[in-house]
Amino acid sequence: MKILVLNAGSSSQKSCLYSIDDRLPNEPPEPMWEAAIDWAHHPGFAEIKVKTATEELTEEIEVKSRLEIMAHLLSMLWQGKTAVLNHPTDIDVVGHRVVQGGQEYSQPVQIDQTVKATIDRLSTLAPNHNPANLEGIEAIEQFLGTEIPQIAVFDTAFHRQIPDAAAIYPVPYAWVDQGIRRYGFHGISHQYCAERAAHLLQRNLEDLRLIVCHLGNGCSLSAIAQGHSIDTTMGFTPLDGLMMGTRSGSVDPGILIHLMRQEGYSVDLLDRELNRESGLKGISGVSADLRQVMKAIADNNSQAQLALDIYIHRLRAYIGAMLASLGGVDALIFTAGVGENSAIVRSLACESFGFLGLKLDAHKNENRPVDQDIATTDSTVRVLVIHTQEDWAIAQECYRLRAKHVSLHEKQS
Ligand code: ADP
Repeated sequence: MKILVLNAGSSSQKSCLYSIDDRLPNEPPEPMWEAAIDWAHHPGFAEIKVKTATEELTEEIEVKSRLEIMAHLLSMLWQGKTAVLNHPTDIDVVGHRVVQGGQEYSQPVQIDQTVKATIDRLSTLAPNHNPANLEGIEAIEQFLGTEIPQIAVFDTAFHRQIPDAAAIYPVPYAWVDQGIRRYGFHGISHQYCAERAAHLLQRNLEDLRLIVCHLGNGCSLSAIAQGHSIDTTMGFTPLDGLMMGTRSGSVDPGILIHLMRQEGYSVDLLDRELNRESGLKGISGVSADLRQVMKAIADNNSQAQLALDIYIHRLRAYIGAMLASLGGVDALIFTAGVGENSAIVRSLACESFGFLGLKLDAHKNENRPVDQDIATTDSTVRVLVIHTQEDWAIAQECYRLRAKHVSLHEKQS
């Protein structure tokens, strides 16, 4: 089965093509084709990078719309040096990462007119993402036809079973009726890491209590019991919870009221400062990138040190919150850019949990671990570093859903 995965952001788009034979492999395979497009850097132009087993190509093209970029990108699957298919109809299914599935979706779903209308309606909750996801879906319909099955895999779905006590904010109940609640994000990554952890530990996912720390530009934790997310740190929007690269995470909402009332802040200014000028970037004054912050700390930059101290303080505090929601923990998992690459963040985060009997193996922690247990053998809690693979997770969901569909069809005929 040839599965094309599209992961559309507001000014970027990642795409992968996977080929799966008769069953899902145990280890994540390399995609046969992958592409990244970025049109944030150079207005009117898109930078396209495509990689196959034998070719790597970077080019810049002049474009007017996402549709135009998509048409060009898709053609690179079957034309020119990066072609890996004979014809567009070789693609069996297209999977999309859709950010906001609201209270409607707790599972991946095959896209039809109703699903499209729902994704569109939920755009009010994710104005930077759902419209881009919808454009990707429509581009496929336009260029590959409506016959090709398309599947939406939602970033919120894994958190859909979080109990009301953890999901509902203590606000006037009328707000709850309006759909204001914790949705949680990064669900595809949290679920992938939970399943991968069970595989690596050779345990049943249903028997494990896990805390996943997804620490990238955006950061969130999840508490996972019996294979379900039962708590998470991102909330109604991805602004809640941990300190992030440019986002503040949770702050006293009274601060917003104060700034609006006393300083005349507008909604747009608050939005920009909390989403783009806060976090590591805001406090360090150096960068949103932890690598740059660490360099500044080495140069004795006290604001950079403060940024790291706040980041770690909040990370520990929220790990504690997830621990309380779970009533214990079997494994703590680190993933995404910071989680996978920063030994210092992992070691500082774990330091506070020594009282549980959690012990890191310093050598393993510092030795660029990938999909590996970095706790000592006598540690009471396993600590895993897992390379998150959201695109592969989406491809697996597409495979499972299509296989179910085909077997249902065979039974009926
Ligand atoms: P996104 O959330 O956009 O998918 P990533 O998960 O790729 O991002 O994380 C990107 C972040 O990871 C960078 O901004 C940087 O702070 C961090 N990062 C990447 N490599 C390292 C490293 N070697 N050491 C510390 N931080 C790193």
